[in-house]
Amino acid sequence: MNKKSKKINKNMIILVLFIIIVVAISVAIKMKNQGNSALASAEEKRIAEEQRIEEEKKKKEEEERIERERKEQEEKAKKEKEKAEEQNATGVIYLTFDDGPSADSTPQILDILKANDIKATFFVLHYSEENEHLIKREQAEGHKIALHGYSHTYSEIYKSADTALNNFMKIQNQVYQTTGEKSNIIRFPGGSSNTVSRKYCPGVMTELTKKVVENGFRYFDWNVDSGDATKPKNSDVVYNNFIKGLKPNRNNVVLMHDFTKNTPTIGALQRVIDYGKQNGYVFRKISDETPMVTHSVNN
Ligand SMILES: [Zn+2]
Repeated sequence: MNKKSKKINKNMIILVLFIIIVVAISVAIKMKNQGNSALASAEEKRIAEEQRIEEEKKKKEEEERIERERKEQEEKAKKEKEKAEEQNATGVIYLTFDDGPSADSTPQILDILKANDIKATFFVLHYSEENEHLIKREQAEGHKIALHGYSHTYSEIYKSADTALNNFMKIQNQVYQTTGEKSNIIRFPGGSSNTVSRKYCPGVMTELTKKVVENGFRYFDWNVDSGDATKPKNSDVVYNNFIKGLKPNRNNVVLMHDFTKNTPTIGALQRVIDYGKQNGYVFRKISDETPMVTHSVNN
């Protein structure tokens, strides 16, 4: 090889190397740009997705707000209608059933109430797992589940104001576990006027009636006694006691029971409802707005 052709070869190599470098650089730039635009489009997608989620969330919140307002309006209209009915009525009847639930009486009472489209109040005691469905049924059918006590044994309850308060707390908790609702409507076993508690703790009802209110409870006695817990009893006696106790232009809180085998009340209930309706009364369940109906305390 001569000197000249050596030089040409060297130039060729430099040229080829140069071309390779240029190509390599341009390929590298292109790849980087592609990568950047892929990243950019991924970022755009992510932002768009976030916006979509945000818009959907806003739409859902708006729908929930409209639904909530609709329900509030409906509830308000219902309350106003009920209030007007009460003002035009002869009086109001609050049917209340103590000492349940029981497997035999409670379903029969619920059937009669349902057939007449009447809501009532159940002052319940501690219940077994087998009877839990009755509490759920009472709730599902729109009745008020109120509290009577975990125990009904006077000697246990009325040892002190604290034991009596605890007796309500315990049944409140059991009802809450079943229904998800914390009831604060109570009725003292024996009523607030009972004297039996004097035997276990003198002055306990005086202290307790204040204490329950301080603890957020509202208590209800009764002003119509169906007499279904005292003997002798049959449906006629229950019905007549009801009529005798009923008074116009007031809230009539009727004491009845859904303990086991309470056939006198079950037998009288339809007649009780018919009498109330025929005489222009309306039936209501106790609510947080119902004024307390109480006896005078005797211990
Ligand atoms: Zn009772």
